[in-house]
Amino acid sequence: MWQAETRIDLNAVRGNVARMRATTTAEIMAVVKGDGYGHGATRSALAALAGGATWLGVCSIDEALALRADGITAPVLAWLLTPGADFDAAVANDIDVSVSDVGLLAEARDAARRAGRPVRAHLKVDTGLARGGATAAQWPQLVEAAAKAQADESVEVVGCWSHFVHADSPRHRTTDDQIDAFSAALTVAERGGVRPRYRHLANSAATLTRPDTHFDLVRPGLACYGLSPIAGETFGLTPAMTARARVALVKRVPAGQGVSYAHTYHATRETTLALVPIGYADGVPRAASNVGPVQLGGVRRRISGRVCMDQFIIDCGDDPVAAGDVVTLFGSGADGAPTADDWAAAIDTINYEIVTRFGSLRAPLVFDELLP
Ligand SMILES: *Cc1c(COP(=O)(O)O)cnc(C)c1O
Repeated sequence: MWQAETRIDLNAVRGNVARMRATTTAEIMAVVKGDGYGHGATRSALAALAGGATWLGVCSIDEALALRADGITAPVLAWLLTPGADFDAAVANDIDVSVSDVGLLAEARDAARRAGRPVRAHLKVDTGLARGGATAAQWPQLVEAAAKAQADESVEVVGCWSHFVHADSPRHRTTDDQIDAFSAALTVAERGGVRPRYRHLANSAATLTRPDTHFDLVRPGLACYGLSPIAGETFGLTPAMTARARVALVKRVPAGQGVSYAHTYHATRETTLALVPIGYADGVPRAASNVGPVQLGGVRRRISGRVCMDQFIIDCGDDPVAAGDVVTLFGSGADGAPTADDWAAAIDTINYEIVTRFGSLRAPLVFDELLP
């Protein structure tokens, strides 16, 4: 019997992607970086592909290679590469790479020449985030180098792309500025002889709210897993991850009993404490001490006292809880249990971070298999 479990509803992932699929004419790149935001990269990728995604997005070549090793043949883009990245493996495994500067482009070309076939590249332009991508000043030079590489067939320019600043509020005016900057960069590329098949800009929030950002391909991550990028709006998505644990031990303690390290919580009256066998080594943030929401015995409660490395405690009052009872930390919300959004609000972070942490529960992920 499991003691703690992170369960992934693959049907929800497929359904969420299908929902987005139905609202755009662009192709969908399901983003499965960070082990699929904690949901398992390969299984989530397969569910997303079943839902109509045609591309997968990851950060590193290693993440892309792991998908290939699991037999996934769909196009994969790896977008965060450092000098010395394994471009040979990328070319050999048909992995698309993002290139932001001429130095990395030269490395990619070398690998293509060694392999005797072109490397598939997406040129990244920085439209304001000031993270990856060539600045507007560097862009013409990158385009020129890419056009040359295209001419000698060391590079196939598959895409041009960029990423939003206000990823969680796509109606922000900077989004319009970035669309303009992106369009200007595309014009420069076209004049330089680079006409990529895929122009892409939109993350989840823009995919759900800004059709004018869709171009040829959208790159939702969070929404594939059923979480909303915009607080207070659900977009009809279904959260795929449920994190649960079983009560290990219950005990009665007297009024005034201090609970867990440093006694940051005290029982106000005689009460029942339930010990839950997961802690920060399993993904439960230590910041959830005294605030993390849970459901036990059909009742919403809060963590009492410090979250430890392997365990935490819940003050259950006089409720009839027993060892072995299931504690839900978060799930789809359908049964009244907390959601990843509730956890994010409780510890002042974003739902992205909650699910990504809980993917690392000590127990392996459990998958609700895709139905036919
Ligand atoms: C993570 C990421 C995405 C997906 O973002 P969501 O907000 O999860 O949809 C898209 N593009 C890039 C470049 C990313 O790093």
